[in-house]
Amino acid sequence: MRDLYIDGSWTDATTSTGGRTVENPYDGSVLRSVSEAGPADVDAAVDAARRAFDTGPWRTTSAAERAGVLRRLADLLVRDREDLARVESVDTGKTVVEGGIDVDDITAVFRYYASLAETDSGGRAVDTGDPGVVSRVVTEPVGVCSLIAPWNYPLLQMSWKLAPALAAGNTVVIKPSELTPLSTVRLTELLAEAGVPAGVVNLVLGAGAVVGAEMVRHPKVDLVSFTGGLATGREIMAAAAPGVKRVALELGGKNPNVVFADADFDTAVDYALAAAFFHSGQVCSAGSRLIVEDSVHDAFVAELARRAEKIRLGNGAEADTECGPLVSAEHRAKVERHIALAREEGARLVAGGGRPDDPALADGYFLRPTVFADCTSEMTAVREEVFGPVVTVERFHDEHEAIALANDTEYGLAGAVWTGDASRAQRVAGALRHGTVWINDFHPYVPQAEWGGFGKSGIGRELGPSGLDEYREVKHIYQNINPAPMRWFSGAEKED
Ligand code: NAD
Repeated sequence: MRDLYIDGSWTDATTSTGGRTVENPYDGSVLRSVSEAGPADVDAAVDAARRAFDTGPWRTTSAAERAGVLRRLADLLVRDREDLARVESVDTGKTVVEGGIDVDDITAVFRYYASLAETDSGGRAVDTGDPGVVSRVVTEPVGVCSLIAPWNYPLLQMSWKLAPALAAGNTVVIKPSELTPLSTVRLTELLAEAGVPAGVVNLVLGAGAVVGAEMVRHPKVDLVSFTGGLATGREIMAAAAPGVKRVALELGGKNPNVVFADADFDTAVDYALAAAFFHSGQVCSAGSRLIVEDSVHDAFVAELARRAEKIRLGNGAEADTECGPLVSAEHRAKVERHIALAREEGARLVAGGGRPDDPALADGYFLRPTVFADCTSEMTAVREEVFGPVVTVERFHDEHEAIALANDTEYGLAGAVWTGDASRAQRVAGALRHGTVWINDFHPYVPQAEWGGFGKSGIGRELGPSGLDEYREVKHIYQNINPAPMRWFSGAEKED
């Protein structure tokens, strides 16, 4: 089990942690066992990254050379697309089609940052108004970065960090979620094949509380970029504080999907389903809070419930599967507790609410797509991130109330507005306190546009030019080209 990649070599953990078996959430079968790192392995990985940063060639190579490596990686991702999509599917439970979309996405992201690093150095000349001064601002890589990813989009979330970090010339230690490490092992193999020098990318596997915590605490780490839950984000911020490390956090969401009566009914229902149930709702930007105008509310809920009941659950490897299982038995139990609590708090169940009856799905961690109507913003299911196939529906009477409900959350990751009125679309989009707002759409993102959250959805941005800036230090270089004594202080005359 040589699953750690440190200083350019595949290696086993030095401390015996017993490793971990990785399972397929479709049927609970064991996919394979992996070795998990102990603190000494994290130390070795950080040391390798530190050496590679301080002495290695990566940060001093030209942006064009680094871009060349990233483009070679993109070509390898295209070559191995089907294999990576299959690995992602069996590890997370998502369909192979969704896995393929993720691979296409990260291919585009690596290409985007290759081009951006070549064309945007981040530097500029400064006109001080003094002809005797040359002043310029330059950027440099931050240093050693710890990159920590969640289980819902293992390849994608890691690549949104990795691509800009490498493009900017940093060295990294990476850790996927302990639940879904397999695609990141494959990605690391491809990085090596693409020509990333030894020590520039180091992979450690293991539990967050042990391996992740050490990656945050380690004094030789300069920056921590984390995607995951709010509670973990808080811990990471606190653990990074003594070292005053740079911290970037992509946390959860409780995303409103606002439907006005003048929206196209069928399209809005169709997208409301995709917003809530894509990847069984295990999406940070899932449209888990549906907010519908009074006059169409009842018809909307009825049609949503009818179609939710028809979603085909199954094995992500099979072509007719529309939704796979949840990632683990533990996570399903958490979502089931949320469903029970929503019923206790008075939400009206109109679809789903439990496990499917189909005996073929009995060994997997499935839950039926669940719709709750008559929800209010005091209910736990409306306030907390459920992170499963559960959507709550609230009702509004006018635009003012729609905006107030949509913004009534401590999160602020993403939201959508559905309307046929172009002016209202812009007014509502402008008023929503969320990092991404879709108008008459849900879920798309592009490498060129920033992704991240307001409020407790995080700090910083991924993707777009800001995604690269996260991994750059800014330096001002000021040169006096005619140096001469300044005579600020007296006593300049030499004494005999
Ligand atoms: P999590 O917080 O449990 O774990 C995320 C990662 O952090 C894992 O690799 C885990 O091992 C590690 N970790 C856990 N404790 C740690 C610690 N103390 N120190 C360092 N690392 C630690 O999250 P999860 O359950 O894997 O993922 C689901 C969460 O991720 C949801 O809240 C979801 O909204 C969020 N998410 C956000 C985005 C976004 O773009 N904002 C994208 C995807 C997922």
